[in-house]
Amino acid sequence: MTIPDTTSGILIEAEEFDDFGGWVLDSQFEHEMGSPYLLAHGLGEPVADAGTTIDVDQPGSYRVWVRAKDWVPGHHPGRFTLTIGDTTLDTEFGANDRDWSWQDAGVVDLPGGATSLVLHDLTGFDGRCDAIYLGRDDTAPVDGADEAARSWRRKLRGLPEEPVEAGAFDVIVVGGGVTGAAATLTAARLGCRVALVHARPYLGGNASVEIGLSPRGERGPTVDELSDRSPDGDLVAISVLRAEPTATVLLEHTVYHVVMDGDRIAAVDARDARSGREVRLRAPLFIDCTGTALLGLQAGAQTLFGQEARGDFDEGLAPEQGDEMHHGNTVFFRTRMADEPVPFPEVPWAIEVAKNYSNLSGQLDRPGIENGIGPVVIDPDETPDPTIRRR
Ligand SMILES: Cc1cc2nc3c(=O)[nH]c(=O)nc-3n(C[C@H](O)[C@H](O)[C@H](O)COP(=O)(O)OP(=O)(O)OC[C@H]3O[C@@H](n4cnc5c(N)ncnc54)[C@H](O)[C@@H]3O)c2cc1C
Repeated sequence: MTIPDTTSGILIEAEEFDDFGGWVLDSQFEHEMGSPYLLAHGLGEPVADAGTTIDVDQPGSYRVWVRAKDWVPGHHPGRFTLTIGDTTLDTEFGANDRDWSWQDAGVVDLPGGATSLVLHDLTGFDGRCDAIYLGRDDTAPVDGADEAARSWRRKLRGLPEEPVEAGAFDVIVVGGGVTGAAATLTAARLGCRVALVHARPYLGGNASVEIGLSPRGERGPTVDELSDRSPDGDLVAISVLRAEPTATVLLEHTVYHVVMDGDRIAAVDARDARSGREVRLRAPLFIDCTGTALLGLQAGAQTLFGQEARGDFDEGLAPEQGDEMHHGNTVFFRTRMADEPVPFPEVPWAIEVAKNYSNLSGQLDRPGIENGIGPVVIDPDETPDPTIRRR
C-alpha cells in the first residue's frame, strides 16, 4: 500500500487496507461522518483481522490517532485494537463514550521502512474504524465531514483538490436501484451514451443481493430482464448493462455535489469509496434514481413530501386527499427454523422486543414467504449450482 508521507504525518484510510479480513467496507454514511470505513459485523463472533503494510519514509516518534465510533456509549459493544509493527497499542478503540472521533493512542517509535498495521476486532459487534493517523507532532487530526476535513484528507492522500474530468455523456443516471438500472438500459438501447453512477458494490438498491427485496406487483419486461438473479444472488442487471456498448457503470461511486449552470445541472461530482478519487461527469440530461431525491434536492429543485392528491397530477391510484404519509424506517429481517436451539450472545445494550412478529399484524397474506426466499447465501466451499435462479 503506497501512502503519501507528508511533512505533518501519515494518513491511512481503513478502506485502503490491502486485506479487509472479516471486516466489511461501509460507505453509506460518508455524508454524515466524512468517509467510508471498515465495520466488524460478526454477530457476536469477532471477525478476522484486517491488515496492511505501509512505507514509513522518516524513522522517528509518531503520535497515533484512530478515528472510531463508540456506537453505544456506556456499553462499548464495538471495540478493537491496533497493532503497529510488533506493538499492540494499549488503547481499546470504540470505547470512549463518543460518536465518531479521533482517539489519541499515545506515541510509538517507528524504525522506518515497511511497517504492518493490523486491526483486531474484540467483540464481533460492529466495531468501526475510519482511519489511522500517524502524526509527527501533537497536532490533532481534522475531524468532521465538512470541506475542511475533506481538503485535509485529500492533501494527506495526495489527491487533487478539484475533481478530475471523467467524460461527457448524453445522459447520466444517479443511483443504481432497479429504477436506475432500468433507466440506464432504456437510454442505452435508445442509442444514448449513458453513465450510471452508483454508491454500492452491487446494483439493485433495495432489491440488491445486499438487501433482497425483489420487486413485486406490476414489473414489466425491462424490470423482469434486470431483476433475475445469478447463482451468487446478485441481480443479472450488472451483466445486462455491461453488455451494452454505450453504457458505462461506475460502482462504489457516490455523487456528493452537483455543478449548476443557471437552473440546470451541468455535471455531477462523484467520489470513489476505496481510493477517495473524485471525478466530474457531464451531460445535458440527468435522471435522479437515488431513492431519496438527493440530486433534485442538491440542485434546488422543488420537491414533494408525502402523497399528493388524486387531482394534483390526475393520478387514478392516488388518494383523494393529499397527506404526509411516507415509507418509514424498517429493519428488514428473515427467519428460518433451526434443527436445534441456537445460542444468542449477551446484548445488554439492546432494547428487548418481545412481540409476535410471525404474521406482522396481517400485513402479509403468507407469513414468511411473501417477500420471496431472499438472496442466495453460497457456502464459499461449495460449487454453485448454475441451475439455481431466484427472485
Ligand atoms: C422494507 C421495505 C419493503 C418493501 N417492500 C416492497 C415490496 O414488497 N414490493 C415493492 O414493489 N416495493 C417494496 N418496497 C419499496 C421498494 O423497495 C422501492 O420502491 C424501490 O427500492 C425503489 O427503487 P429505487 O431504485 O428508486 O431506490 P433504491 O432501491 O433505494 O435504490 C437507490 C440506490 O441509489 C443509491 N444512491 C443513493 N444516493 C446516491 C448517490 N448520491 N450517489 C450514488 N448512488 C446513490 C443507493 O445506494 C441505492 O442503492 C419496500 C421497501 C422497503 C424499505
